[in-house]
Amino acid sequence: MSDLLPYYKETLTKELVKKGVKNFKLSTNCNDSFEEVNFIIYSPVKKNGVKLNRDFSQFKNLKAVLSLYAGIEDFIGNKTLKCPLIKMIDKNGLTNSMIEWCLAHTLRLHLGLDRHILGQDGIWRHKIKPPIARDRSVGILGLGELGRPVSLFLKKIGFKIFGWSRTKKRIEGIRCLHGTSGLKEVLKKSEILILLLPLTEYTKFILNNYSLSLLPRRSQIINAGRGELIEDTALIENLRSGHILNATLDVFQQEPLPKEHPYWILPNVTVTPHIAADTPIESSSKVLAKNIKDLIEGKLPNGVVDLNRGY
Ligand code: NAP
Repeated sequence: MSDLLPYYKETLTKELVKKGVKNFKLSTNCNDSFEEVNFIIYSPVKKNGVKLNRDFSQFKNLKAVLSLYAGIEDFIGNKTLKCPLIKMIDKNGLTNSMIEWCLAHTLRLHLGLDRHILGQDGIWRHKIKPPIARDRSVGILGLGELGRPVSLFLKKIGFKIFGWSRTKKRIEGIRCLHGTSGLKEVLKKSEILILLLPLTEYTKFILNNYSLSLLPRRSQIINAGRGELIEDTALIENLRSGHILNATLDVFQQEPLPKEHPYWILPNVTVTPHIAADTPIESSSKVLAKNIKDLIEGKLPNGVVDLNRGY
């Protein structure tokens, strides 16, 4: 159930063989052989711009669905899925990619690099001194597989980090908060706010007019989670008023982001086309092969999704 399988076929075959998996066939076409399918490798496929809603019920011997991506909101509410869903946890590929993207944009916003990159206009702006990381507070919503390492790397550079998750956490050097009061505290402190939450019924539109109003004036937002975490009209209003200085957005309610969307035009918005974290074929094939091997041996791999919880 992924149109990416042709790209994966060679590398994934090699990795499965290396793991000792025998007698397998990788196929994108199982219309005549539903009963033979044990594992589905999934990435969303769109038809006429709409993601296909999958029916898993016809696969009577399905042992697991393995998502090529970390975001799994497509599966929520799909009653035909009765077997474990495994999301992609790829520390050597996807995670590193997200760390690099978040670090790059946090430093860019922190240092105000756009001023120099976009302002090659002959003016010698030497009086604007670069700030230093220890004087800057960064909030991170979501301290999971991606948010946690991002927060640790930013802490290493010296930023003051405030993290927020659903459950209580202890991460050395990071002020970890949870619950509604915790969210308020993180927002009030965040000069730069990074969104790395999954999209669930609780996180949808978590950044709205009220929550944006809690952020310090001239704070900056980085969204690498999902577009629906933000109420666009509220963010646009706050960007226009200057309460929010900049938004760097990788994910959108509609993707590709329509040409006429105000995000493309606002001078204080940077749009990137959902590329914060790529799933590289090499590293993710290794993960898929290990997960399939584990499942064949009756072990549950890392990344089993709790569909009731929503992530
Ligand atoms: P994860 O491991 O499931 O972590 C999710 C984090 O969010 C956890 O810390 C969780 O809290 C927290 N959380 C969930 N619901 C919450 C709530 N209601 N209140 C407070 N905290 C809540 O997910 P991940 O692998 O880090 O990925 C995060 C998201 O990044 C994905 O779901 C996907 O949408 C997005 N993503 C984007 C890209 C991209 O290219 N832009 C690539 C990959 C992933 P607990 O720790 O307490 O459970």
